[in-house]
This record gives sequence, C-alpha cells and structure tokens, in this order.
Amino acid sequence: MPQPPTATPGFSTLAIHAGAAPDPSTGARVTPIYQTTSYVFNDVDHAASLFGLEAFGNIYTRIGGPTQAVLEQRIAALEGGTAALAVASGHAAQAIVFHTLLEPGDEFVAGRQLYGGSVNQFNHSFKKFDWHVRWADATDPESVSKAMTPKTRALFCESIANPGGVVVNLPAIAAIAKRAGVPLIVDNTLATPYLCRPKEHGADIVVHSLTKFMGGHGNSIAGAIVDCGTYDWLGAKHRYKTLVDPNPSYNGMRLAETFGNFAFAIACRVMGLRDLGPAISPFNAFLILTGVETLPLRMAKHCENALAVARHLEKHKKVAWVNYAGLAKNKSHRLMQTICPKGAGSVFTFGLKGGYEAGVKLVSSVKLFSHLANIGDVRSLIIHPASTTHRQLTDEQRVAAGAGPDVVRLSIGLEDAPDIIADLDQGLAAR
Ligand SMILES: *Cc1c(COP(=O)(O)O)cnc(C)c1O
Repeated sequence: MPQPPTATPGFSTLAIHAGAAPDPSTGARVTPIYQTTSYVFNDVDHAASLFGLEAFGNIYTRIGGPTQAVLEQRIAALEGGTAALAVASGHAAQAIVFHTLLEPGDEFVAGRQLYGGSVNQFNHSFKKFDWHVRWADATDPESVSKAMTPKTRALFCESIANPGGVVVNLPAIAAIAKRAGVPLIVDNTLATPYLCRPKEHGADIVVHSLTKFMGGHGNSIAGAIVDCGTYDWLGAKHRYKTLVDPNPSYNGMRLAETFGNFAFAIACRVMGLRDLGPAISPFNAFLILTGVETLPLRMAKHCENALAVARHLEKHKKVAWVNYAGLAKNKSHRLMQTICPKGAGSVFTFGLKGGYEAGVKLVSSVKLFSHLANIGDVRSLIIHPASTTHRQLTDEQRVAAGAGPDVVRLSIGLEDAPDIIADLDQGLAAR
C-alpha cells in the first residue's frame, strides 16, 4: 500500500518538490525558464494592485518572476524560513541585507573568520554607505560581546567559516544578538541547510552564495536571503526605518505592519532589489534549482570524501597539519556534533612542511584537482591562498587570515575518493 504523504515532508522531498508544481499553462513538469523581462497586466486595476503591494504577482524580472519564485520557496522551505529572495550573487544578498537594516552611521559586528570577499565588501565598499564593521573572533563569544556598541544594529557570522572550515557556536552568538536586541545574520554557504539550519540555533536572517554547494556544479553565480520570521521589528529596541517607518514609495505603508513575519524578505525585494538592482537571471535560477534537487545526496558524498581525504593527509609525511572539523581530534569537532552533526562540509585547509615552495609545487602538479578560486563544485578544487587570493596582504595579515605560506585549501568534489587521494599523493611526490 502506498503511504499517504506525511504532514511535514522530509528534507530530500522538499529539495525536489518545495515551491514547484506542473506548469499551469503547459503541464511542464520541470519548472520552466520564464525568459521574459515583463508580464502583461490583466487590466488597470490589477496593475494598480501589483504596484501598490496589495496583490502578489509578476511585474518585471528585476523584482522577481515565476522561475525565481520556485527557487525562493524551495530555499525558504529547506532553511525553515517564512520567505526567501533570490538575487544575482552571494555578495548581492549581503549588500541588500545591510541596505535594508542599516542607516548611514550605523555599525554592525562581524566574525573575522569570513570569506575574503566579504571582508573586502565590509571593510571598503560598505564605508561608502557610511556603514561600519567592527570585527570580532567568531570562535570566541567573549570577543563578540566586547565588540558590540550602542551603535550596533546587526551581528554577522558564517556557520562553518571560511577558509579553515571552523564551526561557529551559533547559539552562543545568537544569545549575544538577543541581549543587544539586534538580528543575527548567518552566512550558511559552506554548510547548506542539509548540514545546518541556522534558524534552529537562533539566527534571524540567513544569506547564501548559491554559487557554491546549493547550485553545486560550478556553472552559475547566485545568492539568496532567507527571512527566518523570528525578529520582531515593531517591538524592537532599535528603529529599523526601512521596516517600520511609513514608506513614501508605497503610499505610507509600514512594511513590518503589513507583512508581519515575512516583512524582511518583502523589504529586501521591494526596496533593496528594486532600487539596487542585482536581479538573478531566470536561467541561473533554473540551474540552481536543478542543483538543489540533489543537494542531500551531494552533501553526504562531499562530507564522506572530505573525511577520507583529511584522514589520509593527516598521516602523510609531507603534511604538517590538517584543519578539518570532521577529524576527531580537531578543536571544532565537539561543536560540529551539535551544529552540523551530519558532517563538516568539504572545504578545509592543511599545511605543508615545505612551506610556500611546496604549496606552489602542489597546485602546479595536481591533475584531477582544478587550481582555481571557487568552492562547492562537483569537481575537486585546490588553491594556495598565499600565492593567489591573499597575495596582496602582508605576511602577518596572511597568517592572521589563516592563509600562511604553507596553507593549501581544498574543496573536495564528488569523484571517487581513491582517485582524489591518488592525485594529491602524486602532487605531493612531485619535485
Ligand atoms: C563565495 C562566497 C560568498 C560570495 O558569494 P558570490 O556568489 O561569489 O557573490 C559569500 N560567502 C561565502 C562563504 C562564500 O563562499
């Protein structure tokens, strides 16, 4: 007897079905790519209600569309949020989130264990908006507490942090955000909701670079913002103007009042995406959706392969250290068992006894691995940060960023583990 569907579908079911239905006009089973800039109104009243936010519907692809909507609903379902917004890139997601939260002169606190691009965005580009980052050690809640000031309006960290694969104590960080009355934003790119759902640990907003494991195939740049529906904008101790003030471009509507627990996602769309403009193309949304359908299978295999490679490198005579939270003796291992018990992801660093020269030699000798600046592909990827992404920094800055001369970063793909290991072995043996 076939079983009736359960009330709350499991993660794999959501990864394939959430948000999607056969196309109402053609019956197409896979979500079609609606490659159009704009949508015809039924009549003048319909147009007026769409523009006045009184009805939901399609207007113009900068603000959304049917392909993007399926991706948004799927990501919201996987993260357990109330709504999501798909945008052009992970960095666009971050820019829109802060544009929605901050006013000129405001500050936010960020864990310094971040993707290098985020460090640049926060330090330099955000200054032009008069938004100011204060850095803290995300692995030390005490340091995060100390960085908070009366001007702090948000807290930002990664769940599994770049580049070393450090697991962050999200409940401890969330408690600090709660005490300060500010929302906690978590970049969940490295973990994906398969390994960690930040909302369950106290996050209010989740951001993603869908470019990485969510899309998973290294073929498109995309990002997402998830509204967890947990932050009370109207009751907050601080005034988040975009959410609570009467909005002059929508007839004085107060977004938090009208849209309740998904007001943040709406604000990001109707102010951030509408006015800053980093829309995702319907084609990229389609590619990411296809990737998300196999997310659970891919993440399980990514983690299994990464653990096998880390265990092998740990014993290798040319390797000084391996920093992978999945290894029993790693300092993040205990935290991993509560934050991401299914696995520590597939991005980690290790150190070569031969230092800088050995790093350069390895990336030039591997054959299966691709030497490039990305992560989260089905293909195994390798980079030597000191000679590439962190080249501009001083030696001291490089060491502080976890990118010393001896450091190599891997993103383990979905090939057969013995082939991945054999390639590293031959690369390490090269002279
Ligand atoms: C890649 C990445 C980003 C930026 O995303 P893009 O899609 O490249 O704009 C942000 N955070 C993390 C953790 C990333 O790996």
